[in-house]
Amino acid sequence: MDHFSDRAGRLFAEEVDLAAIAAAVGTPVYVYSTATLVRHFTVFRDALAGLVSPAGEAPLVAYAVKANPNLSVVATLARLGAGADVVSAGELARALAAGVPPERIVFSGVGKTRAEMAAALTAGIYQVNVEGEAELHALSAVATALGVEAPVALRINPGVDAKTHAKISTGLADNKFGIPLDRIPAAYALATSLPGLRPVGIGAHIGSQLTDLAPLEATFATLGELVRDLRAAGMPVERVDLGGGLGIPYRSDQPAPPTPADYGALVRRATEGWNVRLLCEPGRMIVGNAGVLVSRVVTVKPGDARTFVVVDAAMNDLLRPSLYGAWHHIRALSPDSGTMVATVVGPVCETGDTFAEDRTIDRVSEGDLIAFMTAGAYGATMASTYNSRPLVPEVLVDGDRWALVRPREEIDAQLAREAVAPWLT
Ligand SMILES: *Cc1c(COP(=O)(O)O)cnc(C)c1O
Repeated sequence: MDHFSDRAGRLFAEEVDLAAIAAAVGTPVYVYSTATLVRHFTVFRDALAGLVSPAGEAPLVAYAVKANPNLSVVATLARLGAGADVVSAGELARALAAGVPPERIVFSGVGKTRAEMAAALTAGIYQVNVEGEAELHALSAVATALGVEAPVALRINPGVDAKTHAKISTGLADNKFGIPLDRIPAAYALATSLPGLRPVGIGAHIGSQLTDLAPLEATFATLGELVRDLRAAGMPVERVDLGGGLGIPYRSDQPAPPTPADYGALVRRATEGWNVRLLCEPGRMIVGNAGVLVSRVVTVKPGDARTFVVVDAAMNDLLRPSLYGAWHHIRALSPDSGTMVATVVGPVCETGDTFAEDRTIDRVSEGDLIAFMTAGAYGATMASTYNSRPLVPEVLVDGDRWALVRPREEIDAQLAREAVAPWLT
């Protein structure tokens, strides 16, 4: 459910005509809907309502900043009470700048540097999710040097097949993430013994765009057994982080993924009697449907075998199709009711710069505006300047108002960041 809709044959974001934004800002441009962000966050939070900790705390919904780190997006969610799951010092700085209180920030990631650990501990974040024994030693050293105590949760690798795309599966034994299950009790004991660490719990995140709850159910069962085993061994477990990963509908011709309510029911069932504070790290589920990428048709080019629609967005603006073979619904902003079979490509000099192959789309011609739907997650954040294309701008809509929340990068600014070696001038 999102707030992009047709009004008299034109695609609107809430009360704003997307063509008006394209005219003002140019294309390509990402447009996000506040109402959709609010709705998705609220639906997710409400699905977990009542699951309070022994101290009466509601679950911490730590939005995975990497899905869409735009400051205005994070600030919108922070105002609703969201926390942040960050995976770098940059995301930590963003979350803080967007107004997420440190006590709602969780730091995840498989390769935190000591400088990043120090930044997180200095900020006083809620929890560091640790992914290995060596990281425990490093974090202990950093915390001790700073004279603080680091709240630590261990990320387990449950050895579960998340049944998603191989590049976004993270819970298999041979994925780089987490600590193998059989080493968790010893690692937890190690965390208890090292100075500067306060072990608070465990967590898991098995992958992204999960369309089947069974792997999550298996993972939660494993987490539940661990909670019991650790406690039986005399170790305190106050929190369990259930990770993110809930899939969203990209294609209307495929079965709908589980809803937040389905997920909430599973969490309710699986975590009964745990007596912990729950944490979740949803990313895509919150922002995916809240964004579109608006682009203009540069030319329509008949080939021998197929018709190419060349648009002004490219793989550097929206990488998911070339990286994962991901599908984004493509539509005209003002469809004329005709259709065509087209291969939609960007102008970048790579054959992989393809958004859709031989797909039936709204009939378009040169100059028409199109939208890539469901582009709010892992869209702008993965953009690059490949082919010396300026970083794509971003707009936030709220009701009938909108704001340019990241302007298009100027090519001069891109050049100004570089230096010609002195011997070449
Ligand atoms: C990417 C990631 C998430 C968010 O995943 P989504 O599929 O966007 O919900 C949550 N936690 C961790 C540790 C991640 O790496």
